[in-house]
Amino acid sequence: MAAARMGYRVHVLSPSAGSPTGQLAEREVVAPYDDVDAVARFASEVDVVTLEFENIPSASLEAAASRAPVRPGVFALHVSQDRVREKRFLAELGVPHVPFAEVAAGGDVDGAIAAVGTPCVVKTAGFGYDGKGQVRVGAGGGRASARALAAHQAVVVERFVELEAEISVVAARGLDGTVAAYAPALNLHERHILDLSSAPAPVPDAVAALAREITVAVLEGLDLVGVACVEFFLERGGRLSVNEIAPRPHNSGHLTIEGAETSQFEQQLRAVTGLPLGSVAVRRPAAMANLLGEVWSGREPDWTAALSVPGVALHLYGKDGARAGRKMGHLTATADSLEEAQARVLRARELAVRPAASPPG
Ligand code: AMP
Repeated sequence: MAAARMGYRVHVLSPSAGSPTGQLAEREVVAPYDDVDAVARFASEVDVVTLEFENIPSASLEAAASRAPVRPGVFALHVSQDRVREKRFLAELGVPHVPFAEVAAGGDVDGAIAAVGTPCVVKTAGFGYDGKGQVRVGAGGGRASARALAAHQAVVVERFVELEAEISVVAARGLDGTVAAYAPALNLHERHILDLSSAPAPVPDAVAALAREITVAVLEGLDLVGVACVEFFLERGGRLSVNEIAPRPHNSGHLTIEGAETSQFEQQLRAVTGLPLGSVAVRRPAAMANLLGEVWSGREPDWTAALSVPGVALHLYGKDGARAGRKMGHLTATADSLEEAQARVLRARELAVRPAASPPG
């Protein structure tokens, strides 16, 4: 949408027809991400390739890169596709992260658990997001599940840290190396899925400044051109550490559409097309609530009621099939204060959910 507004014509490659972008793009090519020939043909017809999903096989990325610049680059994607490589990258960069141990597929997960200590979290190295492929190990057990998880794939074992808060910084890096980092967002999760993001996060200035500084170092270290998000743990006691890197516009950055001078999507477009980056200044405090499939429960939510709340914007992605846990859209509210923005967006979402029909009689 940002690209179309600025006069660009968009082609999209998607594994299924009628994708959210395909509904708006000039051209939609339907092919699986691992169809190297289709990806190469696709890339030969465009000026620049970017992506909104990082788990694309490296052979496909290389095929695309042989025909057009891929931004973010193959290296940034390679690092962020795999937790082991990501942790090594953070360690080499000297960036604070949660203590961890690596275990190769079928390796000694018990030894790694003993080395890290319990409680800990065992996570698959590859293709994980939203808490998928994770097992918590502690006094309550979890070792058998951890062994099963590690039997056929590499995992990392991470110390379980006591969290004060989770924050994230979305940032863009332009072709000329300029980096612009948005104000950190405060993120609340429900069942491992992002539920509510608010920005600017109500954290001490020093924490916000450090998070932005680390984010700049990460984007520079990855030599990334485009938009990325660095997710942080703010531990009890004040320590800030990087949890993970997403090399694309991020769910916690959706509120920049209403809350910042330039949205993360326009920023990505500017970065990958070599335009100067836009201002990341806060326009108004903003809060974003995700709309998962549950909000539908078989019928269209009550958008009329939701949009009666002042300062609320509705975003629906055009996905069919409102399955539980599936991100179907989001609501963003802006207000004079962060608390008011949060209250507005939560109220709007509550109003969207229609009460269950009362039984007849
Ligand atoms: P991830 O997929 O790694 O972002 O993990 C999903 C969520 O699980 C995080 O946003 C945290 O809420 C929680 N989590 C993951 N790893 C840890 C950890 N080492 N200590 C505490 N909480 C964690």
